[in-house]
Amino acid sequence: MKYALLLSLFIFGCSKTTPEINRSLTRSNSTQQKNLGEISKNNVEKPKRLWNDVHTHLSPYTMKTFVDVMDANGVYRTVNMSGGSTPKRRVSTLQASSKFYGRIANFANVDWSDIDEPTFGLRAAKSLREAVNDGFTGLKISKALGLGVKLKDGSYLKIDDPRLDPLWSEAGKLGVVVAIHTADPKAFFEPISENNERYAELSIAPSWSFHGDEFPSRKQLLDARNRVVKKHPKTTFMLLHFANNPEDIDEVRSILESYPNVILDVAARLAEIGRHDPKKVRKLFNDFQNRILFATDLQVGVQVYRDELYLRVTLGSVSKTPPTLDDVSHFYDLHAQFFEAKDRVMEHPIPIQGDWKVRSLGLSDSVKAKLYYKNSERYIFAPWLGRSVAQKLIRKITD
Ligand SMILES: [Zn+2]
Repeated sequence: MKYALLLSLFIFGCSKTTPEINRSLTRSNSTQQKNLGEISKNNVEKPKRLWNDVHTHLSPYTMKTFVDVMDANGVYRTVNMSGGSTPKRRVSTLQASSKFYGRIANFANVDWSDIDEPTFGLRAAKSLREAVNDGFTGLKISKALGLGVKLKDGSYLKIDDPRLDPLWSEAGKLGVVVAIHTADPKAFFEPISENNERYAELSIAPSWSFHGDEFPSRKQLLDARNRVVKKHPKTTFMLLHFANNPEDIDEVRSILESYPNVILDVAARLAEIGRHDPKKVRKLFNDFQNRILFATDLQVGVQVYRDELYLRVTLGSVSKTPPTLDDVSHFYDLHAQFFEAKDRVMEHPIPIQGDWKVRSLGLSDSVKAKLYYKNSERYIFAPWLGRSVAQKLIRKITD
């Protein structure tokens, strides 16, 4: 695979088995080195709000640390989108998160390695069924679908390839959400140059560029995703990153109007959402208040350096200086300000995503409550907790 989700695979896909993590952070010249698992308690006030963050990426090694981060920031539950595609990784994900039952839910990922097998779809559906039976909460599809996974003839697997239909319909039968990341920001499909408004990011992560004939166009990808959503009305699709089209609020509205089985997360897209007229955006949040979920794309993973594991924090995108756990509170605070403050011109939470200010939304208390936790409880966590109680009972009866 040319595009191999390089960074995230590096961070989260490491298969190192030793549980020893080097207990120092990667910021080498920092006087703020701290032990892994500790966030600065000096300035931690009681969190001002309670919310669920439905889009994070965790490693089995960092879950304990992450629960401290959640406690400090009022995050009650989270969805770890990096649950794993291999049996080994899935087992370690479930083992690590079981200690924090009810707080960390995990979405399983897809193993694409046998995509050329005619029975791929059935196998993927079976694998999802088993994962859900074991305690997984949903399915996460990365942008590798459309931009990375290739068939043996060298072509990209299309998002709406019928061989995937058994997987989409199985998710519907199981009652689990499919979280799908399709395409990427508009600027990632434009040439990498200083004129590109996301140049700062692309210059650090050039593999995020999908400019050129080699790749399908952004529109082709988003249209194919929409056809899948239409074809599987009984499956709930969470279109990540504001349907990955926050550049076009009218298009996002049209998707929500056309497909009742769609919900959205806002992860890592406040820079774009906040660029529009706040009145127009607020109206969208009001009109679809039952279908938009709070999320950040915060990643607390590990990386390997000279055979040792190091903690790695990523605040929604790449950055020149690696952030630490102490930067997370400010990150969450900016999210809160964006949704809560009235008519504020403010910095957005991921500065590298654009050299501009955003305008805050000032959502009403009832809309905010739905965004922050009611919608995620309804769509993701309540079904999962209900299922897991039933699964425990069945195991007790059949043991
Ligand atoms: Zn993500």
